[in-house]
Amino acid sequence: MRDAHLRHRAADAPDPDERKATNTMSQTIDTLERAGSPVLEHFDVLIVGAGISGVGAGYHLQDQYPEKSFVILEKFESFGGTWLTHTYPGIRSDSDLYTFGYRFKPWLGKPIATADKILGYMGEVIEENHLGQHIRYRHAISTAEWSSDSNLWTVHATRTDAATGKVQPVTFTTNFLWMCQGYYKHEEGYTPDWPGLDAYQGQIVHPQTWPDDIDLAGKQVVVIGSGATAATLVPAIAGDCGHVTMLQRSPTYFVSRPNVNEVADMLRGLEIPEEWTHEIVRRKALQDQAMITQLSFDEPEWLRTELLNAVRAELPEGYDVETHFTPTYRPWQQRLAMVPDGDLFKGISSGQASVVTDEIDTFNETGILLKSGTQLDADVIVTATGFDLSVLGGIQFTVDGEAVDFADTITYRGMMFTGVPNLLWVFGYFRASWTLRADLLGDFVCRLLHHMDGIDATKVTPTLRPEDVSMEIGAWIAADNFNPGYLQRSIHLMPKAGDKPEWQHTQDYWTEKNSLPAIDLDDGCLSYD
Ligand SMILES: Cc1cc2nc3c(=O)[nH]c(=O)nc-3n(C[C@H](O)[C@H](O)[C@H](O)COP(=O)(O)OP(=O)(O)OC[C@H]3O[C@@H](n4cnc5c(N)ncnc54)[C@H](O)[C@@H]3O)c2cc1C
Repeated sequence: MRDAHLRHRAADAPDPDERKATNTMSQTIDTLERAGSPVLEHFDVLIVGAGISGVGAGYHLQDQYPEKSFVILEKFESFGGTWLTHTYPGIRSDSDLYTFGYRFKPWLGKPIATADKILGYMGEVIEENHLGQHIRYRHAISTAEWSSDSNLWTVHATRTDAATGKVQPVTFTTNFLWMCQGYYKHEEGYTPDWPGLDAYQGQIVHPQTWPDDIDLAGKQVVVIGSGATAATLVPAIAGDCGHVTMLQRSPTYFVSRPNVNEVADMLRGLEIPEEWTHEIVRRKALQDQAMITQLSFDEPEWLRTELLNAVRAELPEGYDVETHFTPTYRPWQQRLAMVPDGDLFKGISSGQASVVTDEIDTFNETGILLKSGTQLDADVIVTATGFDLSVLGGIQFTVDGEAVDFADTITYRGMMFTGVPNLLWVFGYFRASWTLRADLLGDFVCRLLHHMDGIDATKVTPTLRPEDVSMEIGAWIAADNFNPGYLQRSIHLMPKAGDKPEWQHTQDYWTEKNSLPAIDLDDGCLSYD
């Protein structure tokens, strides 16, 4: 996987003109560094992160406001974010790529795609749109300071030299911060503090930091978790290890589908242009998803029965679906996990994989003692227990010298924050593909920047209107709406929401696709200077 990333990085190599521009830029930086001057550069827009959101942001800005100068700062050595850092066996999307892909770049592969294929697609977007010249890798941002005297952000980062490993402080100023840093800590996943963990003599692995050199041949493996990651890993390693057990505290809803898109295949057979195929298949996928989401609210019991019957049909006669595949929550209260081509169920049916639904009492030397009294021995334990939320990339923000605690702010439509000027966070959807919102917010930022220039404003700050001041303030998202562990653990760190759509991340793509482009930028929620 890592080699594949490097290949994509090579594909991202700038064309000669870009290389010249990049070389000139780094020569300037080197000269400044040799002269002992702190490196300081200015860009109209500074994009944080070169994941799917940051690369999309660069595309939209270049397309819709080409006069703006911009830079994308990325702490890793390549683009991709989530799809670069996760290298566990089988790593793949659980959304279909017709909607997880950008609206402007047709997806040509299978609907559920591996990380490698997603990185290849992003590499093509970077190359075809000459975005490589705007991306600076190995730039980790630590602080961002807003000054209302200059109406600028000053961003402090460290740049690690690829050849020497030398770390250099670098500083940028920018008019607008476009935060595309994702929503979880990339360096390390979440592992609960189980009793007896230190006593265990085998190997413990977190999928987020999967060791390249791990050898599972003949080993007894336990994967703790029941979400998309566990469902991906278990069938991916089932044939390679002695036996793999998925140990879950509680079951998840799974949807098993053949990993093909019949509409796309049919349109391709008719030699319809790929742009059309992408748009048609995307609309169909969105319509199907909208229907399922609506059903989960209107007819949760019916949907639940349908989902469980579909799972039952994939498993051997008499399999205990009630215990292992029947969640206690409503469909869509947590993400539905996709099982392409029923691979998880095939693994279970073949006997190479099994599921245990129980709670961990304690770890011990040879494995895990469960609350039921059963001992589960393992050579390797994989903790597919999720990630830790990171609010705005762990960057320390100040506004006019005051530290910003985002938990004290109220979100403007799940993208900007009261009292924090000229900053937007791309936070996608839980129930629909993240990138759908990254595209919508791309349009929004460009429209906002055009609007500000049209009225000669250099500062925009979300501000409660008089009619909003006494509204009810609640969590970023209500627990009865969507409640996975990483949000429950850290919801207190997230910005707050109000009781009106202007002050919420509604998580509703089907409303936002019409409402975001129609936002009245002068409705009083945004104040300009
Ligand atoms: C295993 C896994 C599978 C997923 N599958 C799906 C799916 O199928 N569909 C879906 O919709 N969502 C999925 N998600 C959610 C997924 O994270 C998003 O969909 C999407 O990839 C997020 O893209 P992003 O660019 O916003 O953030 P990320 O992919 O997290 O990228 C953010 C980038 O910002 C950089 N960055 C962060 N902080 C800093 C800093 N301080 N300085 C410089 N750079 C910084 C990071 O290095 C990273 O490269 C999945 C998540 C995981 C973990």
